[in-house]
Amino acid sequence: MSSTFDVMVVGLGAAGSSALYHLSKTGKKVCGIDQFLPPHPYGSSHGQSRIIRQAYHEDPLYVPFIKRAYVLWEEIEKNSGKQLFLKTGGLMLGHPDTGVIKGAELSAKMHDIPYAYLSNQEISTRFPAFKPGNNVVGVIEENAGILFPEDCIKAHLEVAATNNSKILKNEKVTTIHTHSDVVEVVTTQGKYRANKVIIATGAWISEFIPELNLPLTVERQVLYWFKTNESRVRVDNLPIYIWEYAPGKMFYGFPDLGDGIKVAHHHAGEPTSVHTLNRNISQEEIDSMRNVISTHFNLNAAFNYGTVCMYTNTPDERFIIDYHPQHKNMIIASPCSGHGFKFASVTGRLLSQLALNEKPELDISLFSISRFNK
Ligand SMILES: Cc1cc2nc3c(=O)[nH]c(=O)nc-3n(C[C@H](O)[C@H](O)[C@H](O)COP(=O)(O)OP(=O)(O)OC[C@H]3O[C@@H](n4cnc5c(N)ncnc54)[C@H](O)[C@@H]3O)c2cc1C
Repeated sequence: MSSTFDVMVVGLGAAGSSALYHLSKTGKKVCGIDQFLPPHPYGSSHGQSRIIRQAYHEDPLYVPFIKRAYVLWEEIEKNSGKQLFLKTGGLMLGHPDTGVIKGAELSAKMHDIPYAYLSNQEISTRFPAFKPGNNVVGVIEENAGILFPEDCIKAHLEVAATNNSKILKNEKVTTIHTHSDVVEVVTTQGKYRANKVIIATGAWISEFIPELNLPLTVERQVLYWFKTNESRVRVDNLPIYIWEYAPGKMFYGFPDLGDGIKVAHHHAGEPTSVHTLNRNISQEEIDSMRNVISTHFNLNAAFNYGTVCMYTNTPDERFIIDYHPQHKNMIIASPCSGHGFKFASVTGRLLSQLALNEKPELDISLFSISRFNK
């Protein structure tokens, strides 16, 4: 046994790196560990950009979390000296009765989020890159924008290291033994002891808690960059957007940050696992996305490159942030379902509060494990 820590964080992606940062500010003896060299392109947190927005069409219940997340992103920006957020505004597009439009408006109204409703004509005039078909309207919110995921993870880890956290990289956790008074973390290179452990292993999470039989599924997601010289897609002229083009079916994207416009489908990927994930992108997939672009944009754009990523989904698309039901010294985090990155700054804070037996500053009952038994 080499060391005993107050808290160990297993998995240093979006959630784990943030948890480590927040723990590191408390002066506790903490350690974070990852099987790879974070930030890396093998999990759920790569690909240059993530959307952050407040008028949350999914459910107004998320808005207090997102408001707190903005404050904590600003905090880590200040503490790390890195730019992690770029404000672009955010446009939700769809027919007036789609979930994205109605949901964004509901959250904006309930939580006093500045927004405007755009007609079809107003979308075309303000953002000439878009080709909104008949009946497509928009909800635009000014505070939405882009987080740079790799830089966010780097920032959390760098400040955690400055605060004397131990960070172990390229070291895979193989087993975790929970005892009433201590947790034993076994890795490919050693054994560690901690009073508490946070499991934030993304798409690998089920491997650590098979006994809970959580209803998690892993979904393959492809990100595409299409290159164009047109100024109408540059960051000053195009907001981040989510377009619900048929009930429940969405694609989303980002302005050109240098490599072209980035576009992706939200969900609609094939079920997969960390062991069977197909990381190759077929010509058929590229052609299909090119078709989406030519239908919805006034643009000439050529495929530049793509990457494959994983969503880890719960059936209700809400996160898991909770204690293990049988082992209160184990905290479980599955904050994905394809929309977890923007919350990572606050997720890490909540995880650190659970690990230190503090009352979480926001009501996390909607992310409980017990909801799956109801
Ligand atoms: C294509 C795509 C687009 C997305 N777009 C958005 C968006 O625009 N906005 C948004 O808010 N969210 C978005 N999301 C969701 C968001 O990115 C995820 O919710 C978030 O990245 C999940 O972070 P995580 O910490 O749970 O997992 P990860 O970041 O994958 O971290 C898990 C870590 O655990 C480590 N690990 C696993 N097993 C072990 C082990 N045995 N030992 C040691 N370490 C281990 C892994 O190496 C990894 O570093 C998107 C996700 C994808 C895939």
